[in-house]
Amino acid sequence: MYNKSDIVAATEGDQESEPPGSETTGTVTSQTKTQANQSPPNNFSNWNDWRWQIKNRIRTVEQMAKFLPSLPDHQALKTVMARYPLAITPYYASLIQRPDTSDPIFSMCVPQVAELYNPPCLSADPLEEQEDMPVPGLVHRYPDRALLMVTTACASYCRHCTRKRVAGKRETSISPSRLEQVADYLTAHPEVSDVILSGGDPLTMSTGALEAVISRIRSIESVGVIRIGTRVPVVLPMRITDDLINMLRKYHPIWLNMHFNHPVELTKSAAEACAKLADAGIPLGNQTVLLRGVNDDPKIIEQLCRGLVRLRVRPYYLYQCDLVSGIEHFRTPLTKGIEIMEYLRGRISGIAIPNFVVDTPHGGGKIPLLPNYIISMSPTHTVLRNYEGLVVNYPEPGNLPRHNVQSGANQRQVTNGGVWELACGLASVIQPADSDHGQRRQKITEKRRVSAKTDDAFLFDL
Ligand code: SF4
Repeated sequence: MYNKSDIVAATEGDQESEPPGSETTGTVTSQTKTQANQSPPNNFSNWNDWRWQIKNRIRTVEQMAKFLPSLPDHQALKTVMARYPLAITPYYASLIQRPDTSDPIFSMCVPQVAELYNPPCLSADPLEEQEDMPVPGLVHRYPDRALLMVTTACASYCRHCTRKRVAGKRETSISPSRLEQVADYLTAHPEVSDVILSGGDPLTMSTGALEAVISRIRSIESVGVIRIGTRVPVVLPMRITDDLINMLRKYHPIWLNMHFNHPVELTKSAAEACAKLADAGIPLGNQTVLLRGVNDDPKIIEQLCRGLVRLRVRPYYLYQCDLVSGIEHFRTPLTKGIEIMEYLRGRISGIAIPNFVVDTPHGGGKIPLLPNYIISMSPTHTVLRNYEGLVVNYPEPGNLPRHNVQSGANQRQVTNGGVWELACGLASVIQPADSDHGQRRQKITEKRRVSAKTDDAFLFDL
């Protein structure tokens, strides 16, 4: 619905002066906008220039209203933006198809008055990151990992951001002296072998500024893996330049975790960005946040996960929304995540299934949640169920059945009783009637019976 001209017209004459992180020292520009009279390009030759995209971000209600004229209550939105800043790259804005919250992209990037509603269970920093910072900006929570916030700037500001307390409040990045403090801490703590560069978004920094950080961290012998957390391939895919790739590949092992939330974000440009990164030998993962009205639908997550795997991106986490101020309207009940996991298992390959996690309040870290696959347990058998309702027992090693079961009792024996018969080894399976899988197996069994062939002949006889 919104083409490039709508969006370029929206930012006309109001570009920002510099992309965040444009200085090679690592200190970035402030959020001020200058060059108000500079004209935007009258064609789209600069559309694929990431610096042009940053300079032409949508930053004000007036700019938004030019291409979203039905936007209600500008004054209220200004109040929201005074608390949580607005930035949308022209590229990401061009993915909006409807001017309301029925559109997933709109919901994720356009401010909502609902951001001002905060029930008491929410807080600015529910993960208590500030309390796990031995050096400002360095979160050391788990024994072997640390997370370093290298910038507070992002290309676009997600309305569901878990670091709303810092993202974009002041666009700045790590200073050389702070980087040295961090390096000193990591050197003194060789148990930290995995450093995650986060923010804000590290890939909004200039390549030189980012390299200064990565090369310093890489120089610490005990650091094995450097990971980068970024939403740039989603909101600014043209940032994945050859220059950036050539820099990153010097510092392997580099891993990269992205933040795709909806299949609409899997555009041709995003696919090209992922291909460049994957071709450079960078393992790619994705962290999706479960968002009400955006992706809280099993089929949307299925489509997203399938699409990611096609781009060589491993769906890594499906995050429950954190208890962060300003995002109550995005929160889903935990049961929604469990329902989605129930749907995915068995329908798509394990490599496409993310872990559903809750990053617990009070700095408890991530806890994975799963549907319950354990039906019952006894000292000799554990009774499990699969995605389609097949219930089987798994005999424990070295245990004899407690009941008077003949040898071979754990061969396939369908019970006429119930779960207890499985738990004590009197039977091995409760099978759902007429499942697709069951029907397929019946046909194969019949075919084998008719062919009367041995197993290997059946396998290899073409
Ligand atoms: S890119 Fe990441 S840090 Fe930046 S606003 Fe989005 S979620 Fe927050």
